[in-house]
Amino acid sequence: MSAKVVIKPRRAKPFWLGEPWVYDGSVERVKGTRDLADGDDVEVLDSEGRTIGFGFFNGRSRIRVRLVSGPDRPIDEALIIERLDRAVQLRVDRLRFDGETDAYRLVHAEGDGLPGLVIDRLGDYLVMQIDSLGMRRYRDPIVHRLARRLSPIGIFERVSHTAREQEGIEALDGVAFGDAPHGPVAVVESDVRYLVDVRLGQKTGFYTDQRENRLALARWSHGADFLDAFSYTGAFGLTAMVRGQAARVTAIDSSKPALEAAAANAVLNGISVFEPVQANVLRQLDHWRKEGRAFDVVSLDPPKLVPKAGDLMRGLKLYHEINVKGISTTKDGGILATSSCSQHVGEADFMRMIAAAAFEARARLQLLHVGGQGADHPVLLPHEDSRYLKFLIFRVERDAVAEPAEPIWRREAKLEERPEPTEPKSEDDDPSR
Ligand code: SAH
Repeated sequence: MSAKVVIKPRRAKPFWLGEPWVYDGSVERVKGTRDLADGDDVEVLDSEGRTIGFGFFNGRSRIRVRLVSGPDRPIDEALIIERLDRAVQLRVDRLRFDGETDAYRLVHAEGDGLPGLVIDRLGDYLVMQIDSLGMRRYRDPIVHRLARRLSPIGIFERVSHTAREQEGIEALDGVAFGDAPHGPVAVVESDVRYLVDVRLGQKTGFYTDQRENRLALARWSHGADFLDAFSYTGAFGLTAMVRGQAARVTAIDSSKPALEAAAANAVLNGISVFEPVQANVLRQLDHWRKEGRAFDVVSLDPPKLVPKAGDLMRGLKLYHEINVKGISTTKDGGILATSSCSQHVGEADFMRMIAAAAFEARARLQLLHVGGQGADHPVLLPHEDSRYLKFLIFRVERDAVAEPAEPIWRREAKLEERPEPTEPKSEDDDPSR
């Protein structure tokens, strides 16, 4: 018999509706803890004793339970493998990326009903991240199934900082199946070629979630002097060059290896008008604004600035600052694309932030396009946390400021200098009539 987690009175509704994350604050008590270890399956009950479903327990994580299934289906290997097959089917049979891109998310954790399991396909390799202790118990069957179904050259496993710190997963990066990639892995996304470092690159090595957004922005980039801010390995700028015929790209990132990879990717695609700038985006944008340097198209794709719900206000201020600077370095009539990958920032918050940033930068923004994560990153309803990527394209407009003939303060001073009006001599002289 598995242990039981009882939800506090009046707190169960979200879980009945499908919210998978049971935070410690919703838990009334845990029954049968004697043999309960972190990572074990538990049954989750409402305060009246009705079974809501089954999930992975972790007493050291603030997410105390990650619900996997409903009341009729306890968790077992068959269920996990069935969900894995469905995830693969969505990408391989439905989305059918093959031919156009071989870099996509194969499994998107909660979005695919597989809490904590993230798998990206990158060319001939799969890169796997398991961020929940419960899911780790199914690691071997998952690897076995993937190997049989997709025949990758290798499956490389990355163990994230989150997994180690928050879930207590003690594992190291390494090869889970097949051969290790001996160097960068070749991938194609939307006709652009990349070399991806699946061992040391950020996350799994490549941000597959921005694919549709890169393409959407390329449409607005014809002939453009394009700024790819927070470029990582250059994908926004390179897509704008290859698919949108941008005229030139400047890419800024603080990471030297990322920019080196970006420059190598430019060469790989036969692009010579690519200028990497290793700098802090905020400082570099200030510098350009003072110099009067502006771009036709600017893409802002900062890292996650709101890691925890409690950081929302601080993070929004940072987004605001970045966007004020980004708008200021976009030419009048130019295009600004702005992204946020923080799940704690809702779309409404993001819109309000950018409206305030436009006001501060003395520009008007016309919203042209609303994007988000691609369909290979599906959103589980009602789990808002799985809908994390926001992407907006605007036209930036400024009214030409008509210079007053002379500064207003001087005109006011002149008014004061005028002599007191004298009394009208006669009624006929009264100009007010
Ligand atoms: N646009 C990229 C992904 C960007 S991820 C793509 O499409 O692939 C965010 C990037 O911001 C990382 O590469 C990180 O190195 C960089 N970064 C974080 N803080 C920065 C800062 N203050 N200045 C410049 N780059 C920064």
